[in-house]
Amino acid sequence: MTSPQIWELYAVKYATLAERTRRESFFGGDPHDDAPMPIDYYVWAAVSPERTIIIDTGFDSDEATKRGRTLIRSVTEGLETIGIQANTVPDVIVTHLHYDHIGGHAQFPQARFHLQEKEMHFATGPHMCNHVMSRSFTVDHVTDMVRNVFEGRVAFYDGAAELAPGITLHHVGGHSMGLQFVKVLTKRGWVVLASDVTHFYENLETRTPFPVIYNMGEMVRAYETLEAHAETPGHIVPGHDPLVLDRYPAPDDRLKGIVARLDVTPSS
Ligand SMILES: [Zn+2]
Repeated sequence: MTSPQIWELYAVKYATLAERTRRESFFGGDPHDDAPMPIDYYVWAAVSPERTIIIDTGFDSDEATKRGRTLIRSVTEGLETIGIQANTVPDVIVTHLHYDHIGGHAQFPQARFHLQEKEMHFATGPHMCNHVMSRSFTVDHVTDMVRNVFEGRVAFYDGAAELAPGITLHHVGGHSMGLQFVKVLTKRGWVVLASDVTHFYENLETRTPFPVIYNMGEMVRAYETLEAHAETPGHIVPGHDPLVLDRYPAPDDRLKGIVARLDVTPSS
């Protein structure tokens, strides 16, 4: 291990889907629970004085139209608000290959993509013969990633790894075969960026998975793993929860509702 380094950490919201209900957010939930439960879409940025690492790439406007999501700003525009030029970013961690995490990859033409080997296996193998498994993926994203492999632009991991001092990757599977979460060392300690290990705070708190599932056993066990890695529950950041923008401050007033600073203590 090299000596750790302190990173600034940001969540940048680029899209949303307001017309969603609670019953769509919890496996085995009350089928009559039509209370609204909007979902937000984020990418994350870890920034040190020397280096910027992006976590996930979002999706683009074509994908938003196709899937009926509301793209509020492109990922490129979102990152520009905190002074990051997507087209110069050298490293992108891909938590998994679902459309909303890899669909913006073309905005990072210089990047090397850091991915679990199992996720590429999953996205290109027999599980994709079934529509229930394949529908969270977009074939063009997956084939583009295969091209990136041939161009030497993908770094594969098999389990836990240190990507940089103060940034580690942790495979858990569950929601997708190769899903990984990311730990980032900040001035408040290690922040556990859960991505889709828990979509909402409530999935984790009630131990009730979001109903997009590769392996239920792994998905439930991954909640324990997240907590084991986190100093306090407030160090875990879910992948899609609108509450993230309520609980964490914006870097400045102009960015309220767009960017949250995850390296400061949340309000609740
Ligand atoms: Zn997602």
